[in-house]
Amino acid sequence: MLDKRQFYIDGKWVNPAKKNDFEVINPATEEAFAVISLGGQEDTDAAVAAARTAFGSWQHSLKSDRIALLKSIQTEYAKREEDIAQATTMEMGAPITLSRTQQVGCGTSHIQKFIDSLEEFEFEEVLEGFPNEKILKEPIGVAGLITPWNWPMNQIFLKVIPAIAAGSTCVLKPSEISPLSAYVFSEIMHAAGVPAGVYNMLNGDGIGVGSQMSSHRDIDMISFTGSTRAGSLISKAASDTVKRVTLELGGKGANIVFADADAKAVKRGTMHVFNNSGQSCNAPTRMLVERSYYDKAVEIAVATAEAHSVGDPSLEGSHMGAMSSEAHYNKVQSMIEQGIKEGARLVAGGMGRPEGLNKGYFVRPTVFADVTNDMIVGRDEIFGPVLAIMPFDNEEHAYELANDTDYGLTDYVQTQDPDKAKRAARAMRAGMIRINGDGGAAPSPFGGYKQSGNGREGGKWGIEDFCEIKHITGWTN
Ligand code: NAD
Repeated sequence: MLDKRQFYIDGKWVNPAKKNDFEVINPATEEAFAVISLGGQEDTDAAVAAARTAFGSWQHSLKSDRIALLKSIQTEYAKREEDIAQATTMEMGAPITLSRTQQVGCGTSHIQKFIDSLEEFEFEEVLEGFPNEKILKEPIGVAGLITPWNWPMNQIFLKVIPAIAAGSTCVLKPSEISPLSAYVFSEIMHAAGVPAGVYNMLNGDGIGVGSQMSSHRDIDMISFTGSTRAGSLISKAASDTVKRVTLELGGKGANIVFADADAKAVKRGTMHVFNNSGQSCNAPTRMLVERSYYDKAVEIAVATAEAHSVGDPSLEGSHMGAMSSEAHYNKVQSMIEQGIKEGARLVAGGMGRPEGLNKGYFVRPTVFADVTNDMIVGRDEIFGPVLAIMPFDNEEHAYELANDTDYGLTDYVQTQDPDKAKRAARAMRAGMIRINGDGGAAPSPFGGYKQSGNGREGGKWGIEDFCEIKHITGWTN
């Protein structure tokens, strides 16, 4: 059993104020393999105090010094990639090949993009046409960062790196389901020479450390990724201290497939839903297909699901791993059951574990056809390998169905007609639109409309989220 009960506060590994052990379960074996501590108010206060003290000098650090620090983190991260991959696979069940490539790769890619964005970032500007009016972008202060378990490094890099790049200091609370990769990340931060108190990490659950951070008087901002449920609770808890709250929440992405889509579009969309066992907020889980192509699309989705294997995440390969936890496995199972009860046509997968697996939180790649937007499987985020397919009659109908959702994170369109693709991109109410499978390469804003949250992570937008804006008049140059 790995002992990871300490917290990283003020540049040191420290014991929690009170013993409160919590076992970390490997979802593929259902066995505990590590123990962490769930922190309490004293631990939260200590981490926040360290970040507050460090802010005194970090806010005045030079941009060049911050760029040098990010480069040092980048170097140390590259040395620990395999440790991050192993931790991710054991704590949340992602297959090791996916952990080594996509999960670890998120961190590699984000840090380079943030270095590029920081190099270009203007912390000061004169208002055009008004030479005596100045705008300063100043660090917001102490940022509380609360992250989920599905893409642990992705979310940690998208919050910690822009916070310190902006000159803010931070306290990270990773998910108690996936705390091991965050532990390695903290070792990386230490090895990289991050000044004491600029980055702090403590473990805890939502009711404990999460709520304490949200309502803390000495935290200036909360950046959260996770469920809409927790995002709403955090916003309420943060309201008494009027702190900024940025939220990256759930999604129920529409993927509009026109009859003139390229031959690989349906397979690509289906595989995307199964990637990371469907545990991605930006997954294209609602496939809307033009009626003339509908039967063919269902056939391709079924064949794709049936060909997709599920198995031991510690083995290399392109198979799907386990759900992150027993609670999440049960949630996904009950959603599949709900879909069957609601009358959606189950055409692949279904309830129970895949054949040959009698242990571990494994789910069958599942496809429902003839889904409607009033079914729970058409409305709610399942966060598992479950695709919902529905037909549409014309462009207007497609956009109406796509936008008939509480969410608005990532929508997709598949057509070989560039004008139609552009019309669709403008019509869909979401923070990100992906045309014909182009995932993008530039530093870009990640975030959603409606109940998918607010704020934007990534690139200069991510750094701006951790800044206050000051307007000064009477400035002489
Ligand atoms: P969650 O939102 O409950 O937990 C995510 C993080 O928030 C964890 O660190 C958790 O400790 C913390 N947290 C929980 N309640 C809190 C509170 N009241 N105050 C402060 N912090 C709190 O997510 P979950 O239970 O792990 O997953 C449930 C569902 O959330 C999933 O099925 C999925 O729909 C959604 N989810 C979305 C994303 C995303 O990327 N948008 C990520 C993970 C989960």
